[in-house]
Order: sequence, then structure tokens, then C-alpha cells
Amino acid sequence: MSYVIQAVLSNPRRPECDQITIPFPIPVDQYDKTIEMLQAIDLGFSVNRDCTVDEVNSRYSVLNTLVGTLVNIDQLDYLAKRLDGFCAGEVSQFQAMAHKLGLSEIKDFINLTYCCQQTTVITDFSDLEQIGKDHTMTLNGGAMPIDQYQAVNGKEAALQLINGGRGVITPYGVVYDNGMKLEPAYNGHQFPSYLYDHSLLVLEITPKRGLVEGSNPEYLYLPASEHQIERTLLRVGITTLHDAKIRIDWEQIAGVGRKRVDEHLAEICADISMRRRFVESPTVFGRLAGWWMRCFPLRSDAYRRFYVEDSCSGCGICARLCPVGNIVLLNGRPMIGEGCLICGACYHNCPSAAVRYNGEKSRVQYRHPGVSLVDIMSQSGSVEKE
Ligand code: SF4
Ligand code: SF4
Repeated sequence: MSYVIQAVLSNPRRPECDQITIPFPIPVDQYDKTIEMLQAIDLGFSVNRDCTVDEVNSRYSVLNTLVGTLVNIDQLDYLAKRLDGFCAGEVSQFQAMAHKLGLSEIKDFINLTYCCQQTTVITDFSDLEQIGKDHTMTLNGGAMPIDQYQAVNGKEAALQLINGGRGVITPYGVVYDNGMKLEPAYNGHQFPSYLYDHSLLVLEITPKRGLVEGSNPEYLYLPASEHQIERTLLRVGITTLHDAKIRIDWEQIAGVGRKRVDEHLAEICADISMRRRFVESPTVFGRLAGWWMRCFPLRSDAYRRFYVEDSCSGCGICARLCPVGNIVLLNGRPMIGEGCLICGACYHNCPSAAVRYNGEKSRVQYRHPGVSLVDIMSQSGSVEKE
């Protein structure tokens, strides 16, 4: 299945028009074509929930409750992107909790992607020790020192949970909400920042005249198609970039693909050898983007996806590699903080391959053959290179 959600949509105001089937997430190079197909049947407006969902095909069968509701095309796209990165445990948590809460509104489904990780779902009762350990880990926000984790009496924790009588049976397992609240991370209009796939840059967009009360900024993920840019602006109530707080030099964006690679590589080498902390981009757009990213570092919760497997030997190499000192060893167990740059140094260089990433598609580690561990550690300042 190459899609997360495939929806059959129709226009409730124009019943004479044909239905249209769209797979989500929509790849950036297909986005404009998809919007134009929708516009041909008078659908796909940027801010309206104008499409009736006639059918849903998805491995997330709980989304069938969307059938008969009105959605906006970008809401479906955003939901599919959020769900695409879920690991098996999160799939169960999302489905079971959505069923327990009886959700059918797309806004609620989107919000649930931000908090379903707080719940416990039991799909197999045969290993009480593991169930109890997993539940305790969930109650600790998904991470805890290894010695504390090992000291958990899993069976006792599992029996306490099960005998507490708070479990709700769903087709996706028995779910315990652990006090989870469906918080409005998404207000129904502007989508929260979420780094998906291989976006090169994320820009926060607000109107020059300021946000209307109750509104949030929007985020533009580059590269983006024309319709994606236009619709992002419309969601904060503006129609042109001139009314946006950030001005972008479009000519420089178009020039990105025509960079003089050798010349720029030589500049980068010189910057590295001079140990410059921040390097100015040769383009106006690049300088703007660099300034923006330094002033407003990307707010991403992707670091939460890192976790450490039991095969960790406690060697501490990951902590010494991290370029921003974001890993500390607590009782011999690495803890990854929220200052993570998602550089992947810990992931790719752990000698036990114990640093993992929820939703990873492969366990392959990679380091450039010309770069040693000592080289990386010397960059982070944890060792002096001879
Ligand atoms: S490098 Fe790997 S084995 Fe060593 S402490 Fe970090 S996670 Fe554990
Ligand atoms: S991904 Fe990079 S920045 Fe994040 S914790 Fe690992 S080494 Fe540090």
C-alpha cells in the first residue's frame, strides 16, 4: 500500500459531479495537479471543509468514521503525514483511543496524533512482565533510566493496571487512557509545525499586520508547490507574500538548483577549517533562511522518536559525539533531551546500534569512510584531536 489514506471524495453542493479518489499524503510533485483536479469539480478550497468523504481505504480502519463527514483536503493530507511516521505501538494507541473516544471529526483525529502516545494498549495478555514494563515506560513519557526500567516489577504493574478496571475493550486492544486529554494542538485552521519527509526548510508565516486573536502561525515546508504556498498564506488570512512577515526572494529560490557546486564546496571547506560557528550562505535567500533558523530554531518533536534499546552497553560514546551536548548518561543509560538537532550522530555511530528511531524504515548505520569517531568527537569538543 503506497498510501496511508485513500479517500473517495465528492462535492455535496454539486451531486451531479463525479467522485474523485485521492491517495494521501500527496507527494509535493503531485500536489498542484491534485488541487486542479479537485477545482474542476468545484472542490479543494484552501480553508473550507468542502469535500464529503464517501469512502476511506486505510490500514487505520478506525478512520472509517470519517465517511459522511466534511473535510478539507489539506486536513486529510496533514493527518496522513502524521500517521505515516507511526510505529506499530502508536498505530494501536491511535486506533484504540480513537475508538474509545468515538471520534469522527478530522480535527480530533489530528489532535489525537499528538497525544495518543500517553495511553497503554494491550493486544496480547501472554507476557505480563513485558506489559507492565511497557506501561511503566509509557507513564514515564516513553523514556527512563535502564536500571530503573530493569527494576520494574512488570507483572505486578500489569496486574495493578488490569485489575484497576479502567480498561476499555476495543477492536484494537484493551486501552487504558492514563489520564490522556485530547488537547487542541490543531485549532482547526492552522496546522502545527511538523517536519515530514525530506523538507529542506520550514518557514513560519504570519501576516505583517499580526495574527487575528485565536489564530496561530502557519508553516511552509520547502520545497513546496505553488498551490501549497498559496494555500499556506490563505490559512493565515493573506493572499500574497508581501503581506507576510517573511519576504522571500523568489529569484534566489529559482537559482538554488544552479549553484556553482565546486566553488561553494571550497567555501564550505574553508569555513570548516576556520571553525566558523555560523556560515553565511552565498545567496540572499540562504542568508535569510539561516538568520531565521538561528533566531527561531525549528520546533520539532521528532527527537522524541529516539529511544535506546536494551543492547546499550552504557559506553557513553553517544554523549561524547552529540554536537550540542544533548545526551547525558543517567545511571549508565543515555537520556536524549529536547535540544536535539536530529543530526543522527548518536544513531549512526552507536557501537551496539542501540539508538533507534520510532518509524525507522531500516536499521542501517552510516558514517563517511573518511571520518573517524575521534573526528566527530573532536568537533563536539569532547576529545582533543592529535
Ligand atoms: S553509544 Fe550506544 S551503547 Fe554506548 S551509551 Fe550510547 S546508546 Fe549505549
Ligand atoms: S541526533 Fe544529534 S543532536 Fe540529537 S541527540 Fe543524537 S547526536 Fe545529539
